[in-house]
Amino acid sequence: MSECGCSSHTGGVPLKPLEEALALLLSHARPVAEVEEVALPEALGRVLASAITSRITMPPWDNSAMDGYAIDTADIEGCGTRLPISQRIPAGTSGEPLAPGTAARIFTGAPVPANADAVVIQEVCEQRGDEVIINQVPKPGANIRRAGEDTREGAEVLAAGTRIGPQHMGLLASVGVDRIPMRRRLKVAVFSSGDELVMPGQPLGPGQIYNSNEFTLEGLLRSIGCEPVKMGIVQDTMEATCRALKEASEKADLIVTSGGVSVGEEDHIKPAVEKLGSLDLWKIAIRPGKPLAFGHIGDTPFIGTPGNPVSLFVTFCLFGRPFILKAQGVSGDLRPTLVTAPIGCDWPRPDKRREFARARLELDEKGEAEVSLYRSRSSGVLSSLAWANGLAILPENQPLERGDLVQFLPFSALLS
Ligand code: AMP
Ligand code: MG
Repeated sequence: MSECGCSSHTGGVPLKPLEEALALLLSHARPVAEVEEVALPEALGRVLASAITSRITMPPWDNSAMDGYAIDTADIEGCGTRLPISQRIPAGTSGEPLAPGTAARIFTGAPVPANADAVVIQEVCEQRGDEVIINQVPKPGANIRRAGEDTREGAEVLAAGTRIGPQHMGLLASVGVDRIPMRRRLKVAVFSSGDELVMPGQPLGPGQIYNSNEFTLEGLLRSIGCEPVKMGIVQDTMEATCRALKEASEKADLIVTSGGVSVGEEDHIKPAVEKLGSLDLWKIAIRPGKPLAFGHIGDTPFIGTPGNPVSLFVTFCLFGRPFILKAQGVSGDLRPTLVTAPIGCDWPRPDKRREFARARLELDEKGEAEVSLYRSRSSGVLSSLAWANGLAILPENQPLERGDLVQFLPFSALLS
């Protein structure tokens, strides 16, 4: 048994259980301090630095929920009551107080006039010249949206630490807020280590492949509201790796690298981090993504993801994403929402590490959800991620039979 309580070992280094590794990583995440006031459209995807209170009561006045006739229910003697129409109140106007014994023609969103206590929908009324016949007896309050039913002037509408989505933008606009205090976007320096890498658009020489990880990482970072600082490809030498790490630590709030974190002669990231700063974590009991590394260069945190394209994606989602959300000042639970569904195949040979398998959650012919797994476990097959719509969590050391329930992490919960 290792000191961390996990029995899996590779090359003498005990593998950290996922929960322990994540807790350690998160304990090092400090929210960016700088605050900027931005215009509402620029707020999308960013994090509120302080709570927002409403400038107005919303709705500001009682208003009609339907097109119809505003009346005083005391004037309705029964089905078929006739009332003269005394005024017309379209949205954007404010009518006069309702004259006793009359009805006001009114439209959705228009203020309900004083003295009226209900709106009768036009479908149950008959207009005859200047009169309306009310064919249904309304209850007091019917079809009226009350002042302040959304929010009151001075009340908190959004808490500090909220990450702004489209719904929050609409809410802020509805209460008259047009400039918002946001935390500065997290700057994340990104580089890819590997002598075999070439940028797309260039011809491929013998033994070369395209640098796809830079683009996967750029997309992942942008999807959670960061500003990537792209530093390109770094050659597999100790000197180039140290130079890049140092430069990255000066330019950014966080460094995320791809490749070079294993123990081969060509893997320089780990020794370079140990030389320049500190390595706080290395090797985790998950599959894929075992060699994930975490450390610091000076005060700048560093996350080293493995070069295999699927391992990079999975480790970023499991570790990079929550770390970054916390470093951006997002408050509350950072865990993505999990779905539980039956697995669509047997899984007789589980790994001793917890496996995050590329999977699709789909509805079968009966409309019931089922999780199917990708045909290959190779962490080099990038097209598997385009096929999948999430990751199935397959417990360590536990064979599964078709129909057993598994947890599923939808990409929709990870990539936003
Ligand atoms: P490494 O972690 O550097 O040992 O790389 C593991 C595997 O991932 C190797 O097959 C690399 O060629 C591949 N790889 C490393 N970096 C990248 C990258 N930026 N884009 C695509 N594949 C990569
Ligand atoms: Mg490499």
